[in-house]
Amino acid sequence: MSPNIFLQNGELVIILIKSEKPTIKKKGSHFLSLRWILLATYVVVGIVPLLLIASTILHSVQDYFIEERKKELLSQANVISGQITSHEYMSDKANRDALEETMLEMSQEHDFRVLVLDSSCLVVYDTGYSDVGKTVLIPEVFEALENKDIARTQEDGMVYAAVSISGSSNTRVGVVLVSDDMQDIADTVVDIARKGNLLLAGLAIIVIIMMIIISQIFTEPIKKMIKVIQKMSEGHFEQRVQVHSQIHNEIVDLALACNHMADQLEKVESTRQQFVSNVSHELKTPLSSIKVLSESILLQEDVPKEMYVEFLHDINSEVDRMAAIINDLLTLVKLDQKEIPLNFKETDLNGVVEGIIKRLLPLAQAKNISIQYEKGKDVTAMADEMKLTLAIANLVDNAIKYTPEDGKVEINLDADHQNAFISVADTGIGIPDNEVARIFERFYRVDKTRDRETGGTGLGLSITHSTIMMHNGSIKVYSKEDEGTTILVRIPIRQNIL
Ligand code: ADP
Repeated sequence: MSPNIFLQNGELVIILIKSEKPTIKKKGSHFLSLRWILLATYVVVGIVPLLLIASTILHSVQDYFIEERKKELLSQANVISGQITSHEYMSDKANRDALEETMLEMSQEHDFRVLVLDSSCLVVYDTGYSDVGKTVLIPEVFEALENKDIARTQEDGMVYAAVSISGSSNTRVGVVLVSDDMQDIADTVVDIARKGNLLLAGLAIIVIIMMIIISQIFTEPIKKMIKVIQKMSEGHFEQRVQVHSQIHNEIVDLALACNHMADQLEKVESTRQQFVSNVSHELKTPLSSIKVLSESILLQEDVPKEMYVEFLHDINSEVDRMAAIINDLLTLVKLDQKEIPLNFKETDLNGVVEGIIKRLLPLAQAKNISIQYEKGKDVTAMADEMKLTLAIANLVDNAIKYTPEDGKVEINLDADHQNAFISVADTGIGIPDNEVARIFERFYRVDKTRDRETGGTGLGLSITHSTIMMHNGSIKVYSKEDEGTTILVRIPIRQNIL
C-alpha cells in the first residue's frame, strides 16, 4: 500500500492505494495433489519391485526343483541301466523276475515309471505294465541310443530321463526310460506362491499404511501453511502455523519461515497504520491551531490591526510547519518507493561537509555554538550528492537544535580503503538510553513538547536513515543524557551499480 499525500482546496488528502491482493492459485484441472504423487511414487518404487523380485524368486525355485528332479531321475535310470547290464536282463529272459521286482519297488518308492526298451524302441518292461510290446518313438530314446544320457521336460508337464543300456563289447542294447510328472513340484510352487502372495499382501498393506501416514506427515503441514497464507493474503496477518514438531526438517523450517514472514507482515502493517495515524495527528495539530486563530479573528468585531498581524503571523508559522511536515513526508515516500533512483557519482565529501557548515553556521552562531571541523585528507565516494547532503545536514541541524547555548558541535570525516566515515558529535542534551533505538522511527521525538518549540517534524532522522541505507551504508548512535550525542555514518566508497 503506498500513501499519496497532497493538499486540495486547503484540505489534506491522503489516498492509500491498496495493491491487488495476491491470490493463491486454487485447484485447477491439472492440480495433482502432492500426497497422491507421493503415494504413486511409493507404490511404483516400493511395491512393483517387490512383486518382480517375488516372481523371479518363484521361477528360480521352480527351475531348481525341476533340475533336481531331472538329476534324480537320471541317476535312478543309470542305476537301473547298470543293474540291467550286470544281470544280463536283455539277453537272459529267464532271469528277469528278480530285477523287475527291484524296478517295481524303486518305481513305487520314488513314484516314477520305469520303461525298459530294446534297441528297436520296443517296450520290454513297464512298471506301469500298460505299454509292454509298444514302440516308444521319442527324441530322448533316440538320443540315449546314441549314448547321450538325457533328461528333459515336456509340454505336458512330464520329465523324461533316458539312459542307454550297454551290452557286451560296448554296444547299445536298449534304453531305460524313467518318467515322472511334475505335479508335486507344481503343487509345491503353488503352495509357496500362495504363502508368498499372502506375505506380499500383508507387506503391501503395511507399506501402503506407512505411505499414507508418511505422506500425511509431509503434506498436512503444507496444507496448514496454504490455509494460513490464504488467510494472510486476505489481510489476517495474525494467523500462524502451529509448529509442534520436536524434530527439525525442511517442512518445519518452512513453517517457521512462514510464521516469521507473518511476523514481519504484521509489523509492516502495524507500522503502516501507526504511520497513517501519526500523519493525521501531526497535521491535525497545526490545522486546529489555524482554525482557532482564524475563528477568534472572525468572531470578534473591531479587531485591532496589531492582533490581526499577530494572529496572521501565528497562522503563517503553522502553515510553514505543515509545509515542512508534508515536504519531509514526500521526501520519505519518494525514498521508500525508490521512485527516483539515486544519482550516484564521484562526490567530494569534504565539499559536502563544508557546504553544510556554511549553510547552518548562522543557526549555530545564534546560539553561540561552535562548529569544529578540520579538513583532513581528501575523501571521495560514490554518492548521490544532493540526498547525502540532506541526510548529513539533518544530523548537523539536530546537533545544533539539541545543544544548549555555548555548546560545541564537532564534525569528522575519515576513510579507509573501503568506506567513508562521517561523525557528528555534540555536547547537547543527549538521548535517554531506552529511546536511542527508536529515534529513526517516523515522527518519533524524545520530547514532543520541546520539539514543537524547536520546529522539528520527527521525520529528519528517518530521511537520513533511509538515505544512508540506499547508499548501502550504516548509521550508529552513541548518546549520553546531558552529555551529548555522536552519530556515526558509514558509506561505501564504491557502489556496485549494475
Ligand atoms: P526532529 O525533526 O524532531 O529533530 P528527527 O527525526 O531529526 O526529528 O529526530 C528525532 C528525535 O531524536 C528528535 O525529536 C530528538 O528528540 C532526538 N534527537 C535527534 N538528534 C539528537 C541530538 N543530536 N541530540 C539529542 N536528541 C536528538
